[in-house]
Amino acid sequence: MICVSTRGQAPAVPFRQAVVSGMAPDGGLYVPAALERQSAAWWEGLRHAPFQDVAVAMARALLGDEFDEGELSALIREALNFPIPIVRLDDSLQVVELFHGPTFAFKDVGARTLARFLALSERGVAASDGTRVEGLTVLVATSGDTGSAVAQAFWGVPRTRVVVLYPEGQVSQVQEAQFTTLGGNVSAVAVHGSFDDCQRLAKEAFADAALRQRVRLTSANSISLGRLVPQMFYYAYAALQAAPGSRVVFSVPSGNFGNLAAGVMAWRMGAPIAGFIAATNVNDTVPRYLETGHYEPRPSVATVANAMDVGAPSNLERLQWLFSGDRAAMREMISANVHTDDEVKRAIAELHRRYGYVADPHTAIAYLGAVEDGASHLFATAHPAKFAEVVEPAIGEAVAMPGPLAEALARPRLIERIGPTPRELANLL
Ligand SMILES: *Cc1c(COP(=O)(O)O)cnc(C)c1O
Repeated sequence: MICVSTRGQAPAVPFRQAVVSGMAPDGGLYVPAALERQSAAWWEGLRHAPFQDVAVAMARALLGDEFDEGELSALIREALNFPIPIVRLDDSLQVVELFHGPTFAFKDVGARTLARFLALSERGVAASDGTRVEGLTVLVATSGDTGSAVAQAFWGVPRTRVVVLYPEGQVSQVQEAQFTTLGGNVSAVAVHGSFDDCQRLAKEAFADAALRQRVRLTSANSISLGRLVPQMFYYAYAALQAAPGSRVVFSVPSGNFGNLAAGVMAWRMGAPIAGFIAATNVNDTVPRYLETGHYEPRPSVATVANAMDVGAPSNLERLQWLFSGDRAAMREMISANVHTDDEVKRAIAELHRRYGYVADPHTAIAYLGAVEDGASHLFATAHPAKFAEVVEPAIGEAVAMPGPLAEALARPRLIERIGPTPRELANLL
């Protein structure tokens, strides 16, 4: 898959190189130069197929030129080894649950696949850049959630090591349990300092030329195309579970708009999708752009759906590129709506009362979006137990903690401790 930059000022590169680089050298984001449209018959051949089969077929169509078939299918099946249940609320609305991965949030889909793409791609790229470092060290500074998603994603991936820096005593118990109890190729490092100290240490490590001679550092970049490609698969899967000819419209709870960009890419590839609804919290930069044509980012506002608190969504640039900057064409395919915290809490209560469905705040926004603009499907992006402090008061009941989270809490913590100095981190690396 040939990849180009959204800003058009960087050389085209193969997907493997785009994954290792993360961002294009001109500051743009990598996008597929062309998304070859598969025939209607090709898609019909996947009607009612299991999720992993749809994923492998699409991965082969997209990346078969760069990866060995067996290697690619093993990678996809290992990364996406959890179910994506589709729950029927009523005759016209279904919930596509994306949160059954190890950290109970939909980012597992992208992170687990990216981890394996990176491990495979790095081999080829390492051979060509002349250094002799074996393997890859993923360095991540976290205030909580990123660390667990990245650590879980890379856990057990060959030739990689993850080092998670976090401020000692300043992450939640559940978050700490998720990245300090893994062991193996995951090192959890409690820094005697703040989150800012952790971020500064990571930055200094990336800038330390001597260190980088002996350790191949990478950052598992959140805007990598390697995270978007696997997110195309569940759109097609859910659309292909519907009866042939159904009008499939997805309501997507959006923050950084990676999820929606992946949906548009799946549609471009010919998946039978009729439209999208971008549902946001009050961080409404993209809905305002669709309405007015002006991109006016704002500082983010804290909401109960905090994974969507993004004031300057980076993937809007990808969406614009995908529609060749034609806002009218974009609006034909994507409608947008915006929801306050009060509406979200009422929606959680309504979903519970009307359907007996327990939704987290992000999923509740997708529901509101679906009701407002008429979707057939909405995405559930996090397990409600991760947001119990919002969900429980809204439904008046306790939310059970999923078994694996409870188990992680009970396991012993494996923690290294350092002071906030570059020397101590370099020694540890
Ligand atoms: C990241 C996230 C989103 C938003 O996804 P984007 O791709 O950033 O738009 C929605 N819900 C949850 C739970 C998330 O973690």
